[in-house]
Amino acid sequence: MSQPGIFSWGDTRPFYSQKAYFLQKFGGRVQKLSVDGGFTCPNRDGTKGWGGCTYCNNDAFNPSYCSPRKSIRQQLEEGKAFHAWRYRRAVSYLAYFQAYSNTYAHFETLRKMYEEALSVDGIIGLVISTRADCVDNQLLAYLENLANKYYIHLEYGIESCYDETLKSINRGHDFATVARAIQETAGRGLPVGGHLILGLPGETRQMMAACVHTISDLPLTSIKLHQLQIIRGTVLEAKYRKSPEEFSLFNRDEYIDFVVQWVSRLRPDIVIERFTAEAPPRLVVAPDWGLERADELQRSIERRFRELGLWQGKNYIN
Ligand code: SF4
Repeated sequence: MSQPGIFSWGDTRPFYSQKAYFLQKFGGRVQKLSVDGGFTCPNRDGTKGWGGCTYCNNDAFNPSYCSPRKSIRQQLEEGKAFHAWRYRRAVSYLAYFQAYSNTYAHFETLRKMYEEALSVDGIIGLVISTRADCVDNQLLAYLENLANKYYIHLEYGIESCYDETLKSINRGHDFATVARAIQETAGRGLPVGGHLILGLPGETRQMMAACVHTISDLPLTSIKLHQLQIIRGTVLEAKYRKSPEEFSLFNRDEYIDFVVQWVSRLRPDIVIERFTAEAPPRLVVAPDWGLERADELQRSIERRFRELGLWQGKNYIN
């Protein structure tokens, strides 16, 4: 496997970053703007299950300008103003339908929402986060068609490669379901992302390490890696408070080493959108990693790659 630089497009980090991907794809900086369409989730309303995934509290990742009480247009305009102040160089935007399951509504409702987002000045595409059991052929065909004109990226919660873990976290679908959705989406030429949580109860470090092969075999464009955080108000919080010995949470340094080794065995053309979760500290029960921001942690991860002489895909076995 060659040295870093294959990921480059002006970005010399030892992994294929989202920045490099966007530069390669769009030739400039692109900013994602979160938007809350007021969706719920079939794993909360009884269609698939009740109570949701045991780790889930959507308050942990919704920016302040997002609220389903505002129109899609208003949220995006406010998001643009917020980011224009923070990152003066952003020129194009992707509307990021993030909270809950963003394909869980009637087709016409979805179509109107997506098209409202795409009608906002500067929006060049959509990133749609959802569950693998919330997409069907009609929706995928529509998105495939939309992709002739816009950038359309679907993100699926994988969370674990193991059915016993998915069952224990009350995910409400198995791994085969998510693998199938990823294959069908990629088969239509749409970029596909996945979320994966490292440190779920019941998984040993060896199990998590082995799943890098399963992930590499999926036709994924990108991945988001998260260390398990116990978030206030979740089922997992109650379980953790009752039996903390059943959890094997990563401490900061252990996670950095684990994730660097993991990524060194990951397929090199999978974009890494994030290495760590970034819930507001006031919502995190455990593990306590202090107040280090996600961008600082990422720099520590980059340093560790260099110290160990590793980079994404260095140890990837096809
Ligand atoms: S993590 Fe996603 S699928 Fe699970 S309960 Fe929360 S919104 Fe629903």
